[in-house]
Order: sequence, then C-alpha cells, then structure tokens
Amino acid sequence: MSDIALLPSVRAFLAREHGLFIHGQTVPSQGSATIPVRNPADGQTLAHIADATQADVDQAVTSARQGFASWSRSSPAARAAVLFRLADLLEAHREELAQLETLQSGKLIGISRAFEVEQAAHFLRYYAGWATKITGQTITPSLPSFAGERYSAYTLREPIGVVVGIVPWNFATMIAIWKLASALTTGCSIVIKPSEFTPLTLLRIAELASEAGLPAGALNVLTGAGHVGKALIEHPGTDKVSFTGSVPTGIAVGQAAMGAKLTRATLELGGKNAVAFLPDVATDKAVDGIIEAGFLHSGQICAAGERFYVHRSRLDPLLEALSQRLGQLKVGSPLDETTQFGPVANKPHQQKLAELFATARAEGSQIIHGGRIGDGPGCFVEPTVILAKSVNDTLLNQETFGPVATFLPYDDEDQLLHLMNASPYGLSASLWTNDLGKAMRLIPEIQAGTLWVNMHTLLDPAVPFGGIKASGIGREFGSAFIDDFTELKSVMIRY
Ligand code: NAD
Repeated sequence: MSDIALLPSVRAFLAREHGLFIHGQTVPSQGSATIPVRNPADGQTLAHIADATQADVDQAVTSARQGFASWSRSSPAARAAVLFRLADLLEAHREELAQLETLQSGKLIGISRAFEVEQAAHFLRYYAGWATKITGQTITPSLPSFAGERYSAYTLREPIGVVVGIVPWNFATMIAIWKLASALTTGCSIVIKPSEFTPLTLLRIAELASEAGLPAGALNVLTGAGHVGKALIEHPGTDKVSFTGSVPTGIAVGQAAMGAKLTRATLELGGKNAVAFLPDVATDKAVDGIIEAGFLHSGQICAAGERFYVHRSRLDPLLEALSQRLGQLKVGSPLDETTQFGPVANKPHQQKLAELFATARAEGSQIIHGGRIGDGPGCFVEPTVILAKSVNDTLLNQETFGPVATFLPYDDEDQLLHLMNASPYGLSASLWTNDLGKAMRLIPEIQAGTLWVNMHTLLDPAVPFGGIKASGIGREFGSAFIDDFTELKSVMIRY
C-alpha cells in the first residue's frame, strides 16, 4: 500500500500564510519571528507559524475579556447549540483535520480519524450537554433569629473568566477540544496556545468555531513557544490556566500562576504509569494488554503504561511472545492505512529516547527488543522492550513518553503493591487478572487517579480523569471539570 492522497483543502491550508486567531479572524502577528512546523515522518517543513509577541498576547487577552463579557451572559442553551454545531463541523471536516493532524504529529491516519476527530466530537457533545445542567444549591442556615427574622442561602456557579489553555503535542486536536469545551460550556472565554510542534489543526478548528456561531473573542488561538504560555498566565487579564504537558513544565506553570495573582491552575501532567499482570493471565492476553497499554500511538499518551510488573514465573515466555509480536508490526508512513507503527512526534523527542536507550545500556538494563532510533530524516524509534536490573533503573523511574515498555518481575502481591506505588507520580495504572474478587481487594491499595482493570488507556468523557501526587491537580471530564472552570458564589438573604 501507499500513502493516501492529501485533500485539496489540506494542500490549500498548508500553502497559506499562517497567522494568529484573534477576535474571530486570522490576523498577522505583530512580530516577525516564526517557527517551522515539520512532518515527523520525513522531516519536511509543512508550514511556518508565528511566534506570538507580548503585543499579540495583550491583543488576544483584550479580545477574550470582551468575548467573556458577552459569552458569559448568553443563555446556557445558546452556548450548547454552538458547541453542538461545532461538533457537527468537526465531523464534516473529519478527513481534512485527520490528515493535518497526521502530517503535523506523525500519528497513524486511523488514530487521527478515530480519536483526534471522532472522539473529540464525542467529547465536545458531552461537554455541550453540561451547559444547561450547571446548578448551585439551596441551603437553610442555622443562624439564631432574635426578632423573627429568617435566613435563606444559595450558591451560584459562575464562570471563572478568561481561561488560558496550554496544549501538548501528543493529542493536539483532542486536548485542545477538551480545553475549549470545558471553558465555553461553563461560560468562560479561552485563549489557547497549542504546542509549537503541532499548531495547525487548532488554527483550522478556530475558523470552524466561528462558522458554528461562536462570537468573536470567546476563543482566541496564539501560536508560539513556551514564552507565549507564560505571558498569558502572567497577564493581569487572565483568570485561570488549564495546562496539559510534562511534569517539569507543569511545575513552572503552577509556580507562575500562583506567583502572578493566584491565577487558578489545573495541571494535567505526565507520570510513570504501572501495569501489573497477576499470574493467572494467559500470555497472549498479556501481550495484547501490553500493546494496548504501552504501544498505542507509540506510547505517546500521558496515561500509557511504562512500568510493567509480571510474576517471575511468567516473565520469560511473556517477553519472548511480546518481542515476536512487536517484530511483526508494519513500520512506515502514518499516511499509509496499512502501517501499524509510525514515527514519534518530533526530533527532540526522538533524540531524548536515544539518550534514554544509552542510559539503559550504561546502567546494565537488558534491552530485550528494539532500542535503536532510525538514522533517516523521519523520527522513527523501534518499539522497545527493556528488562530492568533493579528498581533504581532510570527507565523504571523517568517518563519516556515513547514506545518503550520496561519490565520488572515480582514474587508476591505485597511486593507488587509496593513496586506499583513506589513512584512520585500517580496518573494511571492497570491491573490484569481473571479473578475479579482479587482485583476488587487490590483496587483501593493502588495509588492512581485512574485505575483500569483488564484494559488500559481508554478514556470516556463521563469518567473523571486526572493525576494524584506529582501527576497533576484537578480533573477533566465527568462533572468534576465544572468545579475547576467556575467559582462558587454564596448568597445569604435575611428576610
Ligand atoms: P511540555 O510540557 O514540553 O509542553 C506543553 C506545552 O507547554 C507546550 O504548548 C509548550 O509550548 C508549553 N510551555 C513550555 N514551557 C512553558 C512555560 N514556561 N509556560 C507555559 N507554557 C509552556 O509537554 P509536551 O512535550 O508538549 O507533551 C508531553 C508531556 O505532556 C508528557 O510529559 C505527557 O505525559 C504530558 N501529557 C499529559 C496529559 C494528561 O492529561 N495528564 C495528556 C497529554 C500529555
């Protein structure tokens, strides 16, 4: 097979002069600095985007304040209607957005279609449904009455204001949709800064949002490097940051937010997610589970499994069967529908993985399969299986965010629990067993924001998602996100 043909609309979009999206239209940056966007499959430059300046930040925040004034006063049903129309437009432009996403990120075209566009539309509709269901409470105070007066109280959930959304490169389209959907359904306006590696789909989605009826200023998009996110957080006109990215950047973002003006911050960060197989799981099922947990989208998923614990008695046949399966994957262009394993998302990430492989070798970890990067212009990295020497091996402790599964055997359940929880992170974990009674007893003992049993990585908009420990603060999805995008106002009345 060969690459699918690019749509004329994709070619036309790539050929454009890319600007910023401010107050309902594409405008040029007030500066002249640009950043190239490269296709990780072949290293070719796809486009240049603006590296926004402080003046651009000021302009976008002024627009967002105006957008907030009108959008927050619109009826919840009207807000929902706009978001439902945007979901329809995402689906109508499914192939165009999926192709742009694959070009900028190297994601397999099937994953771009199914997750970045179809799942994003599904999430957007879920959030749109909340617009009309956000409520406060009525409370009867117990204050003493001295002269027959009485009291009543109620709470209001009010939109927090202008939100800054900061997005990573791994699911550039879907995570941007989560952020704009959370903000817009609660009546906030939002300025989003996509990753400098993957900004293209969001620029297109902003245009679709206007087509869906979103008023000017409710959604602005500023492209550029990290300094743009920092300037937005520290701007006096912004009220909250919703950040998704790495732990070190997340800590810097949290500090900047607190230091600026107690800007509210939700931080969805990375981790080092544990995957545990109890001895009753058949080898072929365990291999399926490892591929699902560790190798989907080349492991570039925040919730992906990275530390794999297998009972000592099952380790050797499992590693052999896994290596065999990984060796059969068809590696190639992500625009070829038959490809099963594409490149990682960018050159710095490929280089980071090469350094981690070198560290693993230097520390005496055993590379069972893979462990090399490609030497061509594309960002290819072999799917890799590593057997750690001890709990201290770097590959068991540092997030790789790549197609790398690191294994350690265990001897009994107490040791397994200790190993799973011995991490400063706690985004996700999974437990694999046929004995659901045993799983139910272990679930409360495992430290993770999301724990899957006999599955891994799959997210649903109705199920809250977020990290404990150093994996973040706050939750997305479910109704939990409402707390983070609104302020609670208490009203007391004497009568
Ligand atoms: P990153 O932290 O390098 O960058 C994320 C975003 O922050 C980018 O847009 C970047 O330009 C911006 N940024 C950089 N410095 C900044 C600063 N000082 N102030 C404000 N913004 C700044 O992350 P990445 O490499 O793009 O993405 C991979 C990471 O994201 C992984 O660690 C992964 O685990 C994490 N992630 C977490 C989740 C989650 O939901 N928990 C989801 C996806 C990815």
